[in-house]
Amino acid sequence: MPEPELQTETTAQDQQAIRQSVRELCRDFPDAYWRKVDKGEEYPEAFVKAVTQSGYLAALIPEEYGGAGMGITEASIILEEINKAGANSGACHAQMYTMGTLLRHGNEEQKRRYLPQIARGELRLQAFAVTEPNSGSEATRIQTRAVRKGDRYIVNGQKIFISRVKQSDLMLLLARTTPYDDVKDKTQGISVFIVDMRNVRGKLDVQPLDMMVNHHTNSVFFEDVEVPVENLIGEEGRGFSYIIDGWNVERILVASEAIGDGRWFIDRAVKYASDRVLFGKPIGANQGIQFPIAQAYARIEAADLMRFKAAAKFDGREKCGAEANMAKLLASEAAWEAANICLTTYGGYGFAREYDVERKFRETRLLTIAPVSNNLILAFLGNKVLGLPKSY
Ligand SMILES: Cc1cc2nc3c(=O)[nH]c(=O)nc-3n(C[C@H](O)[C@H](O)[C@H](O)COP(=O)(O)OP(=O)(O)OC[C@H]3O[C@@H](n4cnc5c(N)ncnc54)[C@H](O)[C@@H]3O)c2cc1C
Repeated sequence: MPEPELQTETTAQDQQAIRQSVRELCRDFPDAYWRKVDKGEEYPEAFVKAVTQSGYLAALIPEEYGGAGMGITEASIILEEINKAGANSGACHAQMYTMGTLLRHGNEEQKRRYLPQIARGELRLQAFAVTEPNSGSEATRIQTRAVRKGDRYIVNGQKIFISRVKQSDLMLLLARTTPYDDVKDKTQGISVFIVDMRNVRGKLDVQPLDMMVNHHTNSVFFEDVEVPVENLIGEEGRGFSYIIDGWNVERILVASEAIGDGRWFIDRAVKYASDRVLFGKPIGANQGIQFPIAQAYARIEAADLMRFKAAAKFDGREKCGAEANMAKLLASEAAWEAANICLTTYGGYGFAREYDVERKFRETRLLTIAPVSNNLILAFLGNKVLGLPKSY
């Protein structure tokens, strides 16, 4: 696996300053903003602009390409703080994940062409197209084909659940350049492309999906879409390994979002349980309310340790697959547990939109399934870490 780019080191004080500054930024986007955006299924354009302008979305872009040159530890703190503030980094987090493929496997010309513009907020790389109706968790089964014709690839196929396509200029696309049946090693024959959606040749049809969360998710149909050969990332046929390289980053960042959510739920549950008086005492004095909150708090804190362990290993260029996967598993489940107890604590009010619990409840549930489902994480731990027989 290629070495990650050299990252600058930050002190605990620097990290505290990042937390403080992200909190201040999020203060301009209170609960009412997110409630409105969620209800109207709007894209939180003003928020995404503000995070972009602050430079935080370009945290992982090296300084030589105009970014902040931070490590995963700092990037994870940024996303955690966003979610902890009641906001939803799902609106823009993919820019952090997807960038890594371009950064690690793109050539110099591609990096110079795109990264400075992304860092300046002039270009958005928010769409990452992997999932298909007939492949799902078995990503090597993708059927979208890219066939080379002279200086272009012609893409045909269908993707599903692809988020932020309409809010992005560029899409990172995974497509088969050699059919599944023609390769021995099924991870081969898959390639990664940058599709510039500002001037597409061919037909790119984007159909929004009606989803439980405000995630701007679509079905995408490719009909003879032309992608210039200079937009192929790395070598043809090796794209799957490039995507795998980015998985640890993705898992650590998703874990951080879940930890942020978990802290938001616990914070709200503690306040509500302390204020709501029934039967002559705050409901939080009852063990049936208090203990589950305490339990969820302990689980979030434990997941946080695993997140920082994984991030430190990644930033230190050590192998971190086991820790990154465990962090994602533990954090997403702890956040979901915290969501449940928060809803229980609020009783019927938890279902009222004005308290925001039901919105965050839906948002955090997603993290157990996407971008990778926890069953697949368990399969990775069972097989790759513990050496048990492959279950799939
Ligand atoms: C809101 C939203 C946004 C998304 N955004 C994107 C995006 O931007 N880009 C993108 O490419 N994808 C995106 N996805 C897709 C997401 O990554 C997939 O939904 C996820 O990877 C699971 O795939 P699937 O839905 O096809 O489920 P399936 O693969 O059909 O799995 C269904 C269930 O079976 C389980 N399962 C499958 N195989 C096994 C096994 N061997 N052992 C045990 N359990 C198994 C899974 O864990 C899951 O619980 C998004 C999804 C959602 C809901």
